[in-house]
Formats: sequence, structure tokens, C-alpha cells
Amino acid sequence: MSKSNFIFVTGGVTSSLGKGIVASSLGNLFKSRGYSTTILKLDPYLNVDPGTLNPYEHGECYVTKDGAETDLDLGHYERFLNIPTSQLNNVTTGSIYKSVIERERKGDFLGKTVQVIPHITDEIKRRILLLETQKKFQIIIVEIGGTVGDIESLPYIEALRQFKFERKNDVAVIHLTLLPFLSSTGELKTKPTQHSVKTMLQSGVQPDIIVCRTEHTLNDSVKQKIALFCNVDYNSVIESINAETIYEVPLLMLQQKLDAVVAEKLGIQKINRINNVIWKKRLKKFKDAEKELTIAIIGKYVELKDSYKSIYESLIHASAFLGKGILIKWIHSEKINSRNIANQMRDCHGVIIAPGFGGRGIDGKLIAVKYIRENNIPFLGICLGMQVAVIEFFRNVCGYKTAHSVEMNTETKYPIIDLMKTQIEVVDKGGTMRLGTYVCKLDKNSKCYDAYQNEYIEERHRHRYELNNDYAEQLVSHGMDLVGYHEDLNLVEIIEVKNHPWFVGVQFHPEYQSSFIQPHPLFTSFINASLLNK
Ligand code: GLN
Repeated sequence: MSKSNFIFVTGGVTSSLGKGIVASSLGNLFKSRGYSTTILKLDPYLNVDPGTLNPYEHGECYVTKDGAETDLDLGHYERFLNIPTSQLNNVTTGSIYKSVIERERKGDFLGKTVQVIPHITDEIKRRILLLETQKKFQIIIVEIGGTVGDIESLPYIEALRQFKFERKNDVAVIHLTLLPFLSSTGELKTKPTQHSVKTMLQSGVQPDIIVCRTEHTLNDSVKQKIALFCNVDYNSVIESINAETIYEVPLLMLQQKLDAVVAEKLGIQKINRINNVIWKKRLKKFKDAEKELTIAIIGKYVELKDSYKSIYESLIHASAFLGKGILIKWIHSEKINSRNIANQMRDCHGVIIAPGFGGRGIDGKLIAVKYIRENNIPFLGICLGMQVAVIEFFRNVCGYKTAHSVEMNTETKYPIIDLMKTQIEVVDKGGTMRLGTYVCKLDKNSKCYDAYQNEYIEERHRHRYELNNDYAEQLVSHGMDLVGYHEDLNLVEIIEVKNHPWFVGVQFHPEYQSSFIQPHPLFTSFINASLLNK
């Protein structure tokens, strides 16, 4: 396969319209029709990657197999397409400038003035084309972050204009907009969409397809109006109505033939048949399931649910697979104390303690995990969640009352969680954690082995601290099993507590590897244990 087809997705009117979900849904449809598909996210901010961003800024930082810290939309791409992405799938303005400036320092521009056009736009186009040079993808979807008209987005829109000019029929452009509903007149308004398309036209880009986010069905006259004033075919005006779940969006887009319209623009003569039987069955099971289970997620960023996007979605995948509806109870770790914990946990059938960094909220997590351990509530501790479980056990079961993680207390006498040796010399914060996929060996006699049914597993990491092996024997002799480890690095990756129905802590992030079609075994296993706890 030499040439790929490119579908650009831009956004207008407001942010947060769900470009990522539309891009993922379209990718899902092409993939279900047998086209090899991938999605690239272009982020117009100056951070080199989101790894150093506070989750309150843009939500969770997603990690790819090859260890790139990326935008959370890549999580959607993987969950909808059931394929891994890589560092090539996320580009930020920061990373574009970084490479252009590095080349300038080397003298690569031979004395020329380095400018946004052509040097930055060339670099944007080069990054887009890198996915094509892999010769793996028939369809490459490119989601441009931000909203058309933003100053920061301009170089991307200009790069898109050039790309469309250079590759003509290999390119289709979808513009996602919002149709506000005026309740006083009972009307959907098209003017913001018209203005948004005009803004694109000022930059020389005519969208081929308009996808309209709306809370009400579009009638014919609204569609005709948008077609006429935005210069697109009538059948290229697609409604994107609020759905019950994001996993319904591919089917809603299919009903309106979004993929067929795009294929036609790309000159694909006869589109392949679709095979989405499993997806449809899974969705039905999910929608039919009664909410019979309450799972708590404890974290310090719960005000912004996107901070735990992949964990939330992994629970949905397990729920759809098992046909058991889940109610999620978000608990702020700073609001937990020893007086209210019993009440907080009263209706919870299972609890997850989320990943995180720094000391804020750590005491609440320690109180919670003690209660969970002593009261036999199924527990999944992820990364920091696992570390907290180890600290609590070491303090309250092994008796080292002042033990802590060096991350929270550099002076602790009993550093049960310690900085990894490879991290000691590390000074820079960006991209320097233990990142990406590592192999983990499981003990056959463990809950995790029962879940994975495999002795060797691969999971993605993002951390600097680890369980301190100096105390491994004490932990084990008091009833904590160290059931997963990295053989060469001699690192403990999974702990379980004996004499507890299901208490698992993992140093890695299983939530990065769950998809709607293929739920993660740890999550399904955790939900099954929580069902038994009803
Ligand atoms: N802050 C902890 C560490 O760096 C945990 C990180 C995480 O939860 N992702 O080891």
C-alpha cells in the first residue's frame, strides 16, 4: 500500500463538541469495513507533550505502548478501533517548534530565515506524512485540536490547506460544529455554523462535510440551509445528536452514512461491507443492563472526571461485556476521614484507588484502603493506588507506623516505596518517567493469573517510584503476596493480599489497554468479584 487517504476533522463554534468521538467513530466504521485505519491528533499547545500537565488542564495523560505521553483522545482511538497507537499519533505545537528549532541550531536551514510558513507548516505536514510512510494505513484520520479561528490553530489550518492542495482527491475535510437550540422560538440556529465555515474559508479551506452537534433532530430545511450557505452537498450535512453512550455514536454516524459520504469524497468507488456484529451486540447488552453495582473511584482530581477517563471507560467495557450495569461513585480523597469512611463505603461493592502524583489527598486514601482491606471489599489499586495499599499494609499489618513513600516524605525512616534506581539522576520532568510497555511475569497461584490466564503479560507504565525490595520479606511474611514482577529489573509490579476476596494492586496502568470490544481481564475480574460482594 503506497498511498493513504486522509480525513481531517476540524472543530468550530465551541470546544468540547466531541471531535475525538466523531474521529474515533468514523475510524471505527472504516476499520469495521476492513480498511486499515489510524488516527492522528494535532494539539495546538506549546507543551512538548501533555506529560507535565496537571490533569485539571486537559484531563488524563494517556500513554502509548512505546511510552509516549499523549492526549486523552488517543485513548478513545484505541478503545474504538481496538488497535494500538504510538508516539506518531500525537503531535503538539511544542514538539513541532522543538524539532524546527533543533534543526535551526544545527544549521540545517542554510542561513534562511526560519518562519511559521513554510518551516512550521512543513514540519506539520511531515509529521502527518510519517504515518503514511509506515505503509500500513489505507485511512489516516487527522483530528485538529482546538476551534477554527483560534490563533494557535492557524498554522494547522494552513498546513491543511496546503495538504489538500497537494494531495487533492486523497483528502476529505469534516467540520464539526454546534447547532444551538433557542427554546424561546423552538429553533435550531445555523448562523454560528455559517460563521465557522466562513472562518475556514478565510484560510482557504472548504469543508466537504459538516457534522452538526445538536440536542434536537435536524429537519430538512435546516439541513438545506446549512448545505446552501456552507457550500456542501445536502447529504454531507450530518446530524450528531446526543447519545446515551459514546459507543453508540459509530452506529448513529453509520445510519447517516457518514463513512459512505467520506468514501465518495475520497474516490473510493465501492465501499466494503461492514462487519460490526459484536459491537452492536455489546452495545445492546450495555444498554439493557440494569445498574446493579456501585463502584467507587477514589482520587484527588474527581472534580474533573476526564482525569480518570481510561479507568471510567474500562469499567464501561467490563460492564458491557458482562451485561452488568455499574453506577460510579466518585470520592474525593481529601474528603475522606476516619469518621466518615464507613459511611462513604456503605453502598460500594468494589473500590478503585486511582493513580496520581504528590501528597495531596494521600491520608484519605490510606484511611480508605485500611477500611477496604479490613472489610473485605474488592479492591483495585492502580499505580499510586497500589503504592498506597503497600504503605498501609506495611504500616498497619507489619507495624512500621511511620513508613511512607519517598515521594511524600523524603525523610521517612522506612521508605517502603522508593525512587527507582534509574530515576536517581533524572532532573528533567518531561518524558523521563518509566514509560510504556514492560513484560511482567505472574505467579500461577494468584488472582491475576486467574484473570489473565497467561504467565507473561505486557502492561504500560508511568511512574518514578516502586515497591522497595528491602522490605519484600516482611510484606510476604505478613500476608501480602508479590505476584507479578519484572524479571530483569527485579521490580515488583503486582501485589495481592491473602485472605481477602479480591485485593489487587498494580504498578502499571491496565486502563490503557481496554477497548469496547476487548475489555481488560483485570477489570472484568474485579467486577466479577464486586458482584460476589453484593
Ligand atoms: N506518583 C507515583 C510514582 O511516580 C505514581 C504514579 C502514577 O500513579 N501514575 O511512582
